[in-house]
Amino acid sequence: MNAAAPLIDQFQRRISYLRLSVTDRCDLRCSYCMPEAQQFLPRKDVLSLEELHRLALGFIDRGVTRLRLTGGEPLVRRDMIELVKALGARLGQGLEELTLTTNGTRLGEFADRLREAGVRRINVSLDTLDRERFAALSRRDSLSQVLDGIAAARAAGLKIKINTVALKGTNEEEIPALIEWAHGQGMDLTLIEVMPLGEIEQDRFDQYLPLTRVRETLERRFTLTASNHRTGGPARYADIAETGGRIGFITPLTGNFCDGCNRVRVTATGQLYACLGGSEQVDLRAALRSADPNQELDRALDQAMRIKPERHHFAIDRAGAAPALARHMSTTGG
Ligand code: SAM
Ligand code: SF4
Repeated sequence: MNAAAPLIDQFQRRISYLRLSVTDRCDLRCSYCMPEAQQFLPRKDVLSLEELHRLALGFIDRGVTRLRLTGGEPLVRRDMIELVKALGARLGQGLEELTLTTNGTRLGEFADRLREAGVRRINVSLDTLDRERFAALSRRDSLSQVLDGIAAARAAGLKIKINTVALKGTNEEEIPALIEWAHGQGMDLTLIEVMPLGEIEQDRFDQYLPLTRVRETLERRFTLTASNHRTGGPARYADIAETGGRIGFITPLTGNFCDGCNRVRVTATGQLYACLGGSEQVDLRAALRSADPNQELDRALDQAMRIKPERHHFAIDRAGAAPALARHMSTTGG
């Protein structure tokens, strides 16, 4: 296979977007994401800065134009800014966008440097504006740090999108207030359905809030108009007349969007997962550590295109069910 060949899967979907996890570690313990006593990977198994860089360049050479760094919490990795700088140097040379998804706790420290390295947009995950609820949900009393981080990122000139997981009986009532708050500061907000990934202490069925239901509630309060806006991801958007802002809906459970999938995910140990909801996997670390890394990486990417499944099949339809996959979102890279 020609090294410069674009990544196209067996369903003719062009893969132009990589979500690269730089660590599985995190300074929060969101109860829908991981258990309090999450076992993190031994550091020796995690890709080095050089390996992450080389891997990302391998994807860019195969036509990936958008790169999102994630985790775990990407900003807890010590050499994260060095990586962002190294990758930022490829912006305009194959790479069109470099971005990250963060819980925001460390943005106060890093926002300026992210912007200097070429990052323009980031996603910040925030499920509540209530300090006690935040502490209960994330098991850490860090809301003020996150809000300071968001303020620092805005001051640094980063465009922010807020991501909120809709959780039954937890932040359900607060969603309109979260939207008003985000839109009041010029930030879009996207709601996400909770996915059955990895064992946690709670039953997913008790957390799961279908966005069909949230949308009905929002429509009683606001005027929503379907929008053609797209960001190259699975979100579908609506404009809200009263706030002048935009709201996104990511509906893996109530509205499958796999037809337009343009992405793959790589864990911090270099395992490529062809689908967030599947176990199809290719070992890129072995390729990177082989005698001929460039050729082996290309081969591994071709293999990934052959095994990428048509769609995910997870569901949350009854209490007490085992997770669809043992892997947590923080391992795969959310
Ligand atoms: N720590 C960073 C953060 O929270 O933004 C990046 C990694 S986190 C795994 C990425 C996103 O996945 C977050 O928006 C988080 O809310 C979401 N997430 C985690 N577990 C999830 C689950 N089981 N279902 C749906 N979304 C989940
Ligand atoms: Fe950490 Fe993000 Fe998972 Fe929360 S959602 S525990 S911030 S990785």
